[in-house]
Parts: sequence; structure tokens; C-alpha cells
Amino acid sequence: MSQNLTQAYPVFFLFILFVNGCTTNSTTAETGTGEELIEKALEIHKRVLTVDTHADTPLRMIEPGFDMAERHDPKETGSKVDYPRMIEGGLDAIFFAAFVAQDIRDDDGNTRAKALCLQMIDSIVASTEKNPDLVGLALNPGDAYALEKAGKRAIYIGIENGYPIGKDLSNVALYFEKGVRYITLVHSSNNDLADSATDPDGTEHGGISAFGAEVVREMNRLGIMVDISHGNDSVFYDAIEMSKAPIIASHSNARAVTDHKRNMTDEMLKLMAENGGVVQLTMLSNYLREAPANPKRDSAVAALRANMKPASEMTQEERRAMRQAFNEIDEKYPNPPATVKHVVDHIDHIVKVAGIDHVGIGCDFDGGGGIEGVFDASEVMNITIELVKRGYTEEQIQKIWGGNLIRVFKEVQAVAEQIQSDGLS
Ligand SMILES: [Zn+2]
Repeated sequence: MSQNLTQAYPVFFLFILFVNGCTTNSTTAETGTGEELIEKALEIHKRVLTVDTHADTPLRMIEPGFDMAERHDPKETGSKVDYPRMIEGGLDAIFFAAFVAQDIRDDDGNTRAKALCLQMIDSIVASTEKNPDLVGLALNPGDAYALEKAGKRAIYIGIENGYPIGKDLSNVALYFEKGVRYITLVHSSNNDLADSATDPDGTEHGGISAFGAEVVREMNRLGIMVDISHGNDSVFYDAIEMSKAPIIASHSNARAVTDHKRNMTDEMLKLMAENGGVVQLTMLSNYLREAPANPKRDSAVAALRANMKPASEMTQEERRAMRQAFNEIDEKYPNPPATVKHVVDHIDHIVKVAGIDHVGIGCDFDGGGGIEGVFDASEVMNITIELVKRGYTEEQIQKIWGGNLIRVFKEVQAVAEQIQSDGLS
């Protein structure tokens, strides 16, 4: 696999990385030639378990004819994850999120949301069954290590947005039975469970609703990780209070580094450490650096969005047209993307505030994630190279790339076992 890694990493890009390299941790930064350092980093990358906790790839999987075993051209198709590119990037495990965009909160809306969520979960499972030599469905923390040992990628399932739970608590157990191991309570608008960080109407429940609290309790009982990404700040504080198990942010960054509502304040990061949870860094440019002012681009994007239906309701043709329209805007009014340096600036900050045991990685590929140097799954080793360059040790990198998340996952299961045995006694 190291050969794959080297192949996937064009020499000219290595050069750029080193010339532009940041040395904020210069006291501990690695010395030696660039080549030695890259070799060392790639060896570490190969040895540690690498887990990405957030990809919206199921949106692709439900497209007729989309084959996860086939390598897709990221520029041409917009696709960021398939199994060949996971292998190239040395990405051992991934959580595919069944994502249902927020829509009308009535019985019809909830029924449609549940059907779409189940369709996505089924497509994940089907893709693992179709490619047993490449991947395996993972349900427990240890499965990632076992599959890595067998030379296969571990495929975990999450749900992004609790909307498909509707108002029916029994759906939580149904999704657990199907293999779901985390649920992001809310997405970009408020739902029946919780408030969103980005709902234009602001807060509705003051954090997590009474029904949302029941859902958190049920998730604790079953052993599903509570994910607060996309929730407003009150959702975070409520989740910390309510959850009997440590919580996660499957894709969120540090607000002190980049001031965005989706990112977490230092106070939240400190509480996350006390809670024993983990914040998984994400690769969305706007959460990683201040976007330079680009009003022409903003109005072009706003005009396009105003006439767009939800992606889940689009035909394949419409989706292609939408991607094409966004690409045209990108070409006409380009915004410089964030870089690996920005990612590790956030990691540095979280480590400083919360400690090395409370940070991880959730790229959000196929959901808007992808930056210069980590454009798709085939390039994730560039994060490891930057970490090594800044002086992170293999032990620390192992925690960041999966050790921390797996620890939380185990604790969540232990709490569930305790709750269930208390219930029996
Ligand atoms: Zn998201």
C-alpha cells in the first residue's frame, strides 16, 4: 500500500507543501530532508488506523449505476469517495452518513424522510455485500481493526439529521438494528429534536427538545453515539448534560481559529474534554479559514440556490446540471480553497485547549468537504504529512486518526451495556 500512497502523491505537490509549510510548532517541528519526512509520515499513515467519521457518499450510492468499486474522476463527476480512492489514500475506515435534508415536519414529510433514510442505509449495506473483497460492514469499535488486519476498509453507518426519526421513538432502535452507530441530531434547519446552528429563524426549542431528550436517552440505551455537529450552542450544552455517554462532533472545527457558527468555542472544547468526547475536524473551506470577500460569487450562488429544489428530489440529469452550474460559478468567481495547513492549525488549537485525546477527523467528502491537498479520499495522507512536519508523534497521530473516536465508541457501548443490565436487574 505504501507504493499506492507514493503514487497518489504527485511530487510537485509535495514540493508546494514544503515550500509553503507552516511552522507554528517550530519548537517541536521535524527536521531532516523533505523526502525523509514524507517517507516517515507515509509509514506512520500506513501503520495507524485511519477513520473518517463523516462522508455523505450515500447520496451518490443511491444514484442508479454509481459503482463504489470504480474509480471516479473527482473533477469530472464531483465524487470524492469510492473504494479505489480510499485504498490510494490509505483510509481504513469511514462512516457513511445517510443524510436526509430537512423538509416539512408533518406525517407525510416524516414518512418520506424515513423511506429515503432506509434507502440510503440499504445502499450502504448492499455496496459492502457487493464488494466483500474490498470492504466489510462494521458495527462495533473492534471491527475497524479486524478489517484493517484483513486488508479491507471498514464501512460504518451514521445518520446526518434526526429528521427521519420523525416523532416515533421506535425508529431509533430500527436504525440501530440496521447498523447505525451515530446520529447527528439536527442539520441546517431546526427539526423536532433540536435547534440548528444555521436556521434563519433562530432558536425554537432552546437547544434539544423534550422529544430530542428522549431520543438521546434511547441512543444511550442502544449504544448510538450522540453527534452535535450542526446543532446550535445550546444543543451542545444540552447534549453534554443529557447524555450518559461521551458525545461526538462528527464534523466541526474551532471557532477561535475560524469564526463560524458551525465551529466550537474554546469553552465548548474544554467541556468536550471533561465529557471525554471527541471533535472531528472537517475539510470545509469556510469552516477552516475566513473566506475572502467575493460579492459577485455570493450573488451568483444565491441566485442559483433560489431556483434549486432539494438535492434528494433531483433527477440525475438535474443533479448533473446543478454541479455544472456550481462549477461554472467556481471558474468565473474562484475562491481560494483552504489548505492542509489550515486543517492542522485547527488541530493544533484543539490540542492546546482540549488535549490530544479529544480531536479526530471527519472530512465531509461528498457533502462539501475537500480542500487544496485533501481534495478527495485519495489525498488524506497529506494531513499526516503536515502533522509529522509539525512534530506530532506516531502515538499522537494514531489518536487523532481514529484512536480517540474508537475510545469514545467503546465507552458509548459500555454505557449502553450498563443501562441495559441495570434495566434487567
Ligand atoms: Zn454536515
